[in-house]
Amino acid sequence: MTVSDSTARAPLPCALPDSPLANAAAGLDACVHCGFCLPACPTYVNLHDENDSPRGRLLLMRRLLDGELPPDDPDVGAHMDRCLGCRACETACPSGVPYGELLEATRATLREARPTPFVARVVLGVFRRQSLLTVALLGARLLRATGLPRLLARVLPPRMAFPFAMLASTAPVRLPKGHGVVTLTPALKADAAVTMLEGCVMQGLFAHTNHATARTLRATGHTVAFTRGQVCCGALHAHAGDLDSARALARRNIAAFERTPHALIAVNSAGCGAMLKEYGHLLHDDTDWHARAQAVSARVRDVSELLAGRLAPATRSTEPSPAPRLRVAYDPPCHLMHAQRITREPVAVLAALPGVELVPLMDADQCCGSAGIYNLVEPDTSDAVLEPKLRNIADARVELLVSGNPGCLMQLGAGLLQSGSVTRAVHPVELLDAALQRGADPEHPLSSR
Ligand code: SF4
Ligand code: SF4
Repeated sequence: MTVSDSTARAPLPCALPDSPLANAAAGLDACVHCGFCLPACPTYVNLHDENDSPRGRLLLMRRLLDGELPPDDPDVGAHMDRCLGCRACETACPSGVPYGELLEATRATLREARPTPFVARVVLGVFRRQSLLTVALLGARLLRATGLPRLLARVLPPRMAFPFAMLASTAPVRLPKGHGVVTLTPALKADAAVTMLEGCVMQGLFAHTNHATARTLRATGHTVAFTRGQVCCGALHAHAGDLDSARALARRNIAAFERTPHALIAVNSAGCGAMLKEYGHLLHDDTDWHARAQAVSARVRDVSELLAGRLAPATRSTEPSPAPRLRVAYDPPCHLMHAQRITREPVAVLAALPGVELVPLMDADQCCGSAGIYNLVEPDTSDAVLEPKLRNIADARVELLVSGNPGCLMQLGAGLLQSGSVTRAVHPVELLDAALQRGADPEHPLSSR
């Protein structure tokens, strides 16, 4: 039965005209309230409150627009703050609701009416200023080198110790010696030009992963050029609703990457990759920058996209192996799996590693609770989301947990360290780099490089 025009409720006038949320409202109309997204949502699964589910939050957004709730309503703010922005609801949604865009627009709208928490203001301020960020990351590296963070992670009360455990977990992991060599695909095109997003946290705390990325790209037939003038990608600011800062940082990166116009942009941090791929959307109403942003976004590739097609799957013998296999589990970063929809390529990279047994991880598609600075500003919910993940990792009985995002590596690494686990968290590229360095395929045309 259809509702006649005479009985249909007239749409309410928009209570927040010209706000970011009002401008994104078309996405809100796509929700049919089916609830398919609920079991995918880590906050709903762990907190059991409809207001902490995607469907509930979308309803809150609608009520904000209809004027039924004011933008300074503390409960609305709390439910929006508790969202991880993991976008698992987007993958689960059959109606194509652009939840990530709606969340950013809502946070940008609420930001006008309620103050940003102090910790978030400090972190976002530091990440906005390159010189401050460089000093902060240098200080963090010096502190890490003393070994104090690892000690404090063990002796302080768990929540106070967590930031130290996160810092300790950024140190390079000594990878076990494996066996066998990685085989490159025979007919690949050599000398594909790439440049790398260095990334602020990646370059500041995971420089070893950046070096491993450059080596693996070269070893698989890419020429790697470096691009000067890069800054933070702006993802933290966009997710917090500080769209002006995100746009300012995006413009600087776009100008930087225009200096290497013919190179694909390799990114080894899933959150940064998702942000760069969305620069076109971020600057969609900026006439001077929109086309430039789209051109840069179109060149962005997760490093697994560049590597997967160049590696042959390792031969798996059914005979008992002469050397013990390395048990490895893969935890896909949300911004790779749900935001970029990249699932097969990282697994293909791991499948190319001889001597590695890829162990399935229960609920691998659920967020780890890192979500940028979420674990600092929403520690209780972050802990609640991390706990089942650590249980599943323990059940998998693996030596290594791999994940291609610095936030996930720090969150999972800290959780593993504090729980006394022997499992270590590493970036998949580091594992590939170690395997490539064990020996090159002498038959391959690239082996002499
Ligand atoms: S967001 Fe999608 S999956 Fe969730 S209730 Fe709305 S239409 Fe259904
Ligand atoms: S982004 Fe993640 S935490 Fe937020 S509503 Fe969607 S599934 Fe839930």
